[in-house]
Amino acid sequence: MNSLASFHSGIISFIYFIMIGRLQEPEVVPSGLSAQKMTDTRTKTPRAVPQPGSPEQQACNVCSDHMITVSWSEKAGWAAPELKPLTNISLSPAASVLHYATECFEGLKLYRGQDQKLRLFRPLLNCQRMLRSATRISLPAFEPVELLALIERLCAVDGPRWLPKDNTNGLLYVRPTLIGTEGGMGLKRPREALLYIIIVSYPNHNPIAQPTVDLTTQDKKFSLFASHDQAVRAWPGGSGYAKIGANYGPALHVQEEATRQGHDQVLWLFGPDSQVTEAGGANFFAVIRNFSGEIELITAPLDDKTILAGITRQSVLELADAYLTEGSEHELAPVTVAVRTLTMGEMILAYEQGRLLETFVVGTAYYITPVTEIDFRGRKIVPLQSTYARTLRNWIGGIQFGVEKHEWASIIKE
Ligand code: PLP
Repeated sequence: MNSLASFHSGIISFIYFIMIGRLQEPEVVPSGLSAQKMTDTRTKTPRAVPQPGSPEQQACNVCSDHMITVSWSEKAGWAAPELKPLTNISLSPAASVLHYATECFEGLKLYRGQDQKLRLFRPLLNCQRMLRSATRISLPAFEPVELLALIERLCAVDGPRWLPKDNTNGLLYVRPTLIGTEGGMGLKRPREALLYIIIVSYPNHNPIAQPTVDLTTQDKKFSLFASHDQAVRAWPGGSGYAKIGANYGPALHVQEEATRQGHDQVLWLFGPDSQVTEAGGANFFAVIRNFSGEIELITAPLDDKTILAGITRQSVLELADAYLTEGSEHELAPVTVAVRTLTMGEMILAYEQGRLLETFVVGTAYYITPVTEIDFRGRKIVPLQSTYARTLRNWIGGIQFGVEKHEWASIIKE
């Protein structure tokens, strides 16, 4: 894994750009959001930090001591950010977000590494994605680096007490959110908005410290429930690529059905040919031996804007390009990275012919999790192994938890 440390992401990003394209980034124009202008007021009554493994921590509903808020209006632009004790927010009952779902958000983990340092994983990518989401839902623009500076500040303030040094392998979850706050009926772009960042206590889970890293052990069951014809998460021309609440609420009833039937996540299909898009909160990969005997690592493309451009997905593609393709030195058989449409028909045929080697989901919440079964309208598809998934999980987990020094890990100064 030392070779990972010398990974030249510039070259790889270039290859990635050529091979599979990128979502067009909104133009970053000076917006006036400035982390430097932040005021800083600390709590005098620190809150109790949930114990690792406690029910409060499992519930993921306990916020840390502080939050950052920044209000915006069309007239005055971005106000000075405020770091302050956590408090409820007050909204007009006619606020745009409550009626027209003018909201977008991000989700990042703050990792306490095995070397006791606090890290974020490629957080600028989250901030850039949040700008794309904000633009899609008619909320104000900002410079991603300013949002990043705010996130890092909040992590530096609350990280040390909420994720102490002895809790190596522990996590906090960081949730930047942007909402339209202007009150009043009428379908229009909100002229007032609020950006805020909160941190939530999150259950400890370090996938590379789990016994599943041992390639001889069985994977934990993780089963996907393929969506039915009547439930479509996203469509070309829609908003599937944006991380906006309006994509998630309407999908909850299908997740409920999946849970009721004993599955872990929904596998979202699209179109009459059941194209495999992504899972509920994660991107999906399949490893298939094709008819020419090549092993393809397949994931859905971004160009029709139906799936979220996951940061873990991008990292998997970049690492696979660099280390798992023909010519790279690795003991696993080389793969061809294939960012292309995969249908359920192709996956079922590969399964029936013993060519469906692996399927796995990737995301901040799920890391890289081998899928042990897919339920497609009552039919069970069981991939054979999870070798590539485990290898990728070890690489990415190693960066996140400080086993591997890497430029993708951004260390928070305490
Ligand atoms: N797809 C959806 C719908 C998601 O909500 C997420 C999680 O944010 C992902 C994919 C994975 O994205 P990331 O790797 O950036 O966490």
